[in-house]
Amino acid sequence: MQKVKPKKHLGQHFLTDLHIAEQIAQSVKGHKGAQKVLEIGPGMGVLTDFLLQSKLDLYLVEIDRESVAYLTQKYPQLAGKIIEGDFLKHDFRQVLPDQYIIAGNFPYNISSQIFFRVLQERDQVTEVVCMLQKEVAKRIASPKGNKDYGILSVFLQAFYDIEFLFSVPPEVFNPPPKVHSGVIRLTRNEVKNLDCDEKLFFRIVKQGFNNRRKTLRNSLKPLGLSDELKSEAILDKRAEQLSVADFVSLTHKIALSWNQ
Ligand code: SAH
Repeated sequence: MQKVKPKKHLGQHFLTDLHIAEQIAQSVKGHKGAQKVLEIGPGMGVLTDFLLQSKLDLYLVEIDRESVAYLTQKYPQLAGKIIEGDFLKHDFRQVLPDQYIIAGNFPYNISSQIFFRVLQERDQVTEVVCMLQKEVAKRIASPKGNKDYGILSVFLQAFYDIEFLFSVPPEVFNPPPKVHSGVIRLTRNEVKNLDCDEKLFFRIVKQGFNNRRKTLRNSLKPLGLSDELKSEAILDKRAEQLSVADFVSLTHKIALSWNQ
């Protein structure tokens, strides 16, 4: 079979190290008994080969027509399960009506957008095992107090336990990316809904990290804080010093002050 020519605009960097591909595939735990796995961006199937060795029911979504043609020929057993489309836009309800796992060596240019979609579908997505730009992987997995801790870390950590598994150097890709890569695992936690107004929570987190060097008293000014609230000690802190639980409690306080 003729190989797929890597296309830069689709973020195609094909992994060439089979041992690493195997390690990524084996990091899928099958949390909460999910039976189905959706692989995002299988490319030429280096990860697919190893995902197929598990008992999980595999689906692929790939935007590149040339890759889809390649995969269709390579995996006759996946007939009807290879979806040509954009993960960010495709409606998977027909094929994935229940809980499922996401795996993949992500197109790095859209990894944040992939995670925002995961958040929207958090009741279905029980686990994510993926490779992405190391810096972003570190940020997502970072605990509070760390300079890497940011908006996506708080949002994702609210609903997932996150582990940084291992780093991957650029040389094992064709073509090598300019950045180092990292593999992480997200496992859905028990939190169904946040114990506060979630929309407001998201707004506060975003606003707080907008000016991450400022104290929350300053960065949250645009939200209109009451004088009473302004004297709260938590507002002396900066966004990066707050855990998910701290943000939840702050959301309560702000909502309450508005209702008074
Ligand atoms: N898994 C392969 C390829 C990784 S490169 C490997 O490890 O070698 C990222 C892959 O994601 C490419 O095949 C690219 O075509 C695909 N891709 C890029 N944007 C996508 C999108 N929006 N939806 C689905 N796949 C996408």
